[in-house]
Amino acid sequence: MTQRPYVIAVIGAGPSGIYAAEALSQQTEVPVRVAVIDRLPVPFGLVRYGVAPDHESIRSIRNTLERTLEKPNVRFFGDVRIGSDLSVAELRSAVDAVIYAYGAGSHKVLDIPGEHLPGVMAAPEFVAWYCGHPDVHPDVIDDGRSRLDVALIDNAHAAVVVGIGNVALDVARVLIKSAELLTDTDMADEVLESLARKQVTDVHVLGRRGPAYTAFTTKELRELGQLPGVDIMIDPADLELDPSSQAVIDRDKVAARNLALFREWAARPRTGAPQRLWFHFWTRPVAVIGADAVAAVQVERTMIDSAGAVTGTGEREIIPAQLVIRSVGYRGVALDGVPFDAGTGRVPHAEGRVIRDGSFSADEYVTGWIKRGPTGVIGTNKSDAVETVTSLLADIRDEAIDPHHDPDELDRLLADRGIHPLDLAAWHRIDAAEIDLGQSHGRRRTTLAHRHELLAAAEDPASA
Ligand SMILES: Cc1cc2nc3c(=O)[nH]c(=O)nc-3n(C[C@H](O)[C@H](O)[C@H](O)COP(=O)(O)OP(=O)(O)OC[C@H]3O[C@@H](n4cnc5c(N)ncnc54)[C@H](O)[C@@H]3O)c2cc1C
Repeated sequence: MTQRPYVIAVIGAGPSGIYAAEALSQQTEVPVRVAVIDRLPVPFGLVRYGVAPDHESIRSIRNTLERTLEKPNVRFFGDVRIGSDLSVAELRSAVDAVIYAYGAGSHKVLDIPGEHLPGVMAAPEFVAWYCGHPDVHPDVIDDGRSRLDVALIDNAHAAVVVGIGNVALDVARVLIKSAELLTDTDMADEVLESLARKQVTDVHVLGRRGPAYTAFTTKELRELGQLPGVDIMIDPADLELDPSSQAVIDRDKVAARNLALFREWAARPRTGAPQRLWFHFWTRPVAVIGADAVAAVQVERTMIDSAGAVTGTGEREIIPAQLVIRSVGYRGVALDGVPFDAGTGRVPHAEGRVIRDGSFSADEYVTGWIKRGPTGVIGTNKSDAVETVTSLLADIRDEAIDPHHDPDELDRLLADRGIHPLDLAAWHRIDAAEIDLGQSHGRRRTTLAHRHELLAAAEDPASA
């Protein structure tokens, strides 16, 4: 086997891409150089732009991820979008193998009347906004990119959150929590200012199934019951179990713990607190009502039919609300030049080896959400990346991949195009600027939400 390093490009510097780089850099059998490429100026994917800012202990996983990017045979290439700055074919021609780790960049819709009204937004957009993602905080307003209308949040008194997963919990918590309790986060100043203006008194969480079927982590759920000034509202009748719910509770410990919490809350005397968080089980939205903006949501009671599917009972009710956030799942999108299964929203593969036109493609691999769909916790991406890298290393051992590339070809290709990737030193400058800015007005750090701010902070003073 040759001693010339294999050049592996990883598209996406989220957890899955960085865990793939870690698995490649830790092994000693095959010499490698790993290029971790991200379209954003900063690494860490949803650890920076998804995990809730008030969950600092989880967000601090970025420190561990950063150590991988510091390894001598790993390099970060920030601000390079594959598909436009470089095509997938061009990248493949400059490296020995590619690992797709570009996440699930889209979201599902409810497909109900009124969903287009101002005031309805997808949880991924709302989350991206409160995490300070530059796509939602563009430099130039109305430049065609996604931008959230902050006035809709400022003016809402009641909000409906559709979905019963952990993202729905994050969204509900950020909407109901006092902004004062969010000051000790890294939220962008403008986000915090907006959240301080919000007037939300009621947040309604809708689940089309019963309380036995929630996908909540109990720790995160419990947090809601500890929010000061917030009553949790649950109809005790919703907590009675039908035989199928009982069967779930009997076999699933997390579901049983969550149910116990709901029962504890339902039995709590109401305190008359100024804010309320409602859980509506067996309830689905059927229409968003409003003339120019959301005014209410029409919901329908649901039940499980004889085939085990959720179906409407015809019993309807109106919940007044000015904001509707649908948290019904992320979804992978096609990247030009990469095989894609539109049915599952994933790249087709077996054990991480990409399947192109019905057979394995010699130099293409996949990991993370774009491989398995938007499921699991951050750690799930580690075992997932190890599986993919194990396949890649086995293929190198079997000489299915030749190290035919000059290790510097990617740098030359980018330089020829006039593309100047941001390296890890640039991230360190951004990191320092965010800490300095935050500390300058009594905060721990402040996320720079606009691309121009990130690029200015990334500039190397020595090269000015
Ligand atoms: C709102 C939310 C909250 C979460 N909270 C938690 C939590 O508290 N605890 C937990 O364990 N897990 C949590 N998760 C799950 C966790 O974030 C995911 O498991 C993980 O981020 C998936 O990793 P990934 O690398 O596959 O995708 P991502 O993290 O999305 O990373 C993909 C990267 O690819 C980049 N990219 C996309 N397209 C291109 C392109 N064309 N060219 C170059 N780069 C590109 C993106 O910019 C991004 O950085 C949360 C997820 C969400 C959505």
